Amino acid sequence: MVYKREDGRAFDETRKVEAKVGIIKRADGSAMFSFGGSKAIAAVYGPRQLHPQHLQKPEKGLLRCYYDMLSFSVTERKKPGPSRRSSEISFVTTKSLEPVLQLDQFPNTVIDVYIMILQADASTRCAGINAASMALANAGLEMTELVTAVSMGKIGDAIVADLTKEEEDFSITKDGEEIKAATDIPMAFLSRSGKISLLQLDGKIKQEELKEAMAVAKKVCKKIEEIQKNAIKKINED
Ligand code: ADP
Repeated sequence: MVYKREDGRAFDETRKVEAKVGIIKRADGSAMFSFGGSKAIAAVYGPRQLHPQHLQKPEKGLLRCYYDMLSFSVTERKKPGPSRRSSEISFVTTKSLEPVLQLDQFPNTVIDVYIMILQADASTRCAGINAASMALANAGLEMTELVTAVSMGKIGDAIVADLTKEEEDFSITKDGEEIKAATDIPMAFLSRSGKISLLQLDGKIKQEELKEAMAVAKKVCKKIEEIQKNAIKKINED
């Protein structure tokens, strides 16, 4: 099957990326990041004393990320409040960002990162990670490198970057039965070392194809990283 993208994008092309930092004045750091119709904002509070006190760790601070979607960010109203999905995304987001922070500099404290999806059209966890990474930098926290995420996919035989919801739901009819034919692979890279801090896989893919998807993701993330860096620099110049 020869796959052609509905919006005419090349396989390694993301939707339009927009990035801005310093959007929430009362937060210690904040940012907005969007991939086309998927738009995330992130606000950082801290480091501040962690309460209740028994949760404090004298050897290092705690990073807590909270991911959520606005009820009307999707076509069918999403029930407000936490869900299994938001808990999972909050957890993997925390794990994807932790490696770049020097948490041992902030004993007994917590850094809270609130990520809200204002509008969703797939790849929202990646948009959220990108926004959060910029917001942490905007908060003036020392970071060894930035974190940049993109969702890769396999549709039919094509390896594509930054899936839309329509692409994520791509299906084919076989023997009169409709079967899901898209694989979704969100990934995050650390900008300097190139290490991977997020890799999830929903669907099937061959080892060789996964290697190809990782190589493309790395290149795509380099471009996104430039946009993140420019947005961070811009606010520092303003
Ligand atoms: P990601 O947004 O990181 O790709 P998922 O694969 O779980 O995460 O979700 C894919 C897309 O499905 C979301 O971006 C959103 O467009 C849609 N979606 C997720 N949750 C809901 C929901 N509760 N109601 C309607 N659409 C949803």
